[in-house]
Amino acid sequence: MIKRFVPTKKGYKTRIYPNQEQKELINKTIGSCRWVYNYFLEKAKINGYESKTKYIKQLPQLKNEHVWLKEVDSIALQQAVRDLDQAFQNFFDGKQNYPQFKSKKHSRLSYRTQYFKRSSGTESIEIQNNKIKLPKLSWIEFNKHQEVKGNILNVTVSKEIDKYYISINLKDVIVTEVNYNQGEIGIDLGIKDFAITSDSEKIENPRHLQKYQDKLVRLQKKLARKEEGSNNWQKVKQKIVKLHRKIKNVRKDFLHKLSTRLVKENQLIAIENLNIKGMLKNSKLAKHIQDVSWSKFVNMLEYKGKWYNCIVEKVNNFFPSSQTCSECGKKNPKVKDLSVRNWVCKCGATHDRDLNASLNILKQAKKQLAD
Ligand SMILES: [Zn+2]
Repeated sequence: MIKRFVPTKKGYKTRIYPNQEQKELINKTIGSCRWVYNYFLEKAKINGYESKTKYIKQLPQLKNEHVWLKEVDSIALQQAVRDLDQAFQNFFDGKQNYPQFKSKKHSRLSYRTQYFKRSSGTESIEIQNNKIKLPKLSWIEFNKHQEVKGNILNVTVSKEIDKYYISINLKDVIVTEVNYNQGEIGIDLGIKDFAITSDSEKIENPRHLQKYQDKLVRLQKKLARKEEGSNNWQKVKQKIVKLHRKIKNVRKDFLHKLSTRLVKENQLIAIENLNIKGMLKNSKLAKHIQDVSWSKFVNMLEYKGKWYNCIVEKVNNFFPSSQTCSECGKKNPKVKDLSVRNWVCKCGATHDRDLNASLNILKQAKKQLAD
């Protein structure tokens, strides 16, 4: 067991599962923060902008006049004043236009609350296992896909359509309890599967992903048949938005779990340095999603590699990883054809296309590192 300390700031967004009562309170808090923001903006418009300190001092009085403000997180209300202050500072610095009123329809549905320790020793925000405690809300379950601990700076609670999320801002991130494995792997991006490793592990795409992607294609066709802007068009459009989000979340969850496991198991991960820009031009949906996944995955491996002391080495994309025999090093140009899944080298070695490629990627990475 090794404890490592990484002095860095880091954000971490994940879904939370509030109960009905908590949902109502979150909605109320978002609304109250918007109201406070607009209240002081109105004041500033009439009397000129004063200062955040002056406005924050007026909050207790405001709460007496509007008792419903007492129900919500008071730190979040203060943060609304700070946000307004920031908007004014940006305006004074010439970076932004004069602040605008926040509308329910057009502003982000969120509020932010700060971490602090009370003199009694209790904390405003706490995390235990997969639960987070927020002011006034008590414990809420959240989707935990990382084991990173650090000091919480603040938490933003947000609502997107009917789902709720938190973004935790951490400082002095501490990665703990890592069992370092001494593994080394090459990873080849698969065609049918997500990837294959030089340990012969075929990593499949999440089961639901294909189903959702097929559904998305069907809905997009359906949308094209509707009159743009009509009620039915809106309904289909809304479904597409939800499905996109679902796909994004399924994929993100999958990539997080996979990348965390691999950097923990290995001290060297070799990957292909694919030309992502060129790949993203591909218009086929499934292929496009695979490409986006790959670039996100590589990115996760790289930053998590730093936390867990795992070297992530990119192999030059001109290196013919599929066509080279991983046993004798001879090139076989016939393998260039993507339909060749298995082949036998002149040296007698039999190869699975992707496995052979991943073995070569690992070899090449070691060569690069030795140079
Ligand atoms: Zn060979």
